[in-house]
Amino acid sequence: MGSRWGDTVILAAMPEGHTIHRLAQDLVATLGSAPGAATVQATSPQGRFADGASLLDGDRLISAEAFGKYLFCHFGGALLHVHLGLIGKFRPNPPDVPGGDTVRLRLENDRIAWHLTGPARCELVTPDEASAIVAGLGADPLRPRTRPTSLHRLLARTAKPIGATLLDQQVVAGIGNVYRAEILFLRGIHPERPSSSLSADEIDGIWSEAKRLLRRGVRLNRIVTTSPAEIGRPLARIDGDDRLYVYHRTNCRRCGSELGTLEIGGRPIQFCPSCQPA
Ligand SMILES: [Zn+2]
Repeated sequence: MGSRWGDTVILAAMPEGHTIHRLAQDLVATLGSAPGAATVQATSPQGRFADGASLLDGDRLISAEAFGKYLFCHFGGALLHVHLGLIGKFRPNPPDVPGGDTVRLRLENDRIAWHLTGPARCELVTPDEASAIVAGLGADPLRPRTRPTSLHRLLARTAKPIGATLLDQQVVAGIGNVYRAEILFLRGIHPERPSSSLSADEIDGIWSEAKRLLRRGVRLNRIVTTSPAEIGRPLARIDGDDRLYVYHRTNCRRCGSELGTLEIGGRPIQFCPSCQPA
């Protein structure tokens, strides 16, 4: 149990889809099925979610699931919706750690206390409201039995740069700033290419790369896009600067070229002019 606290601090730095899917798994594993801890105590130390927390208090966490970056926790009598946004964190603590005045929601049993801080959204929703949120999202590569049909359709329709559409959660759900840069690098696609100029094979390539990398992110609880063969170490031991090919780097990890940086979709993206020709 010791390493769990440390791992989660690292993952919480950059909430992309893998973070939320892993969070759903961890919440259920620690609150939903802990022996002798069938009910959950819920409070809002900060006070801003006091009414919601009082409705969850003493209830059971039945399941939790993620759609892209949106987390839904199904309690016996209520449905909790959380979106971490850019700075939100949902972290586990030992149960004797009290929730401070930044903690919007604290969920605990006798073994663990989860603290939600700084979320963009923390609210109780009806099943219809949850369905409406999910209906507005693009295909999520981490959802089982999901195909990229809508991705093909939506990209064909717009001349916006692919670097921008990959960040649009209505086009594809769960990809954030790090994964978009790394996926486009790995597929050799320049981020300014108009979305509608991509071939069906290129779109399928983006989808399968997203699936592979996000699944790996859920498993490792952090983002690693580099290959063990290229780095010369097993996945579990790839860390720090070795985890990525282009994101936040000045030179391409693969060919050494100086990287370009563009502002696309409101966020900076690095790309390699040699590996991702215009
Ligand atoms: Zn390169």
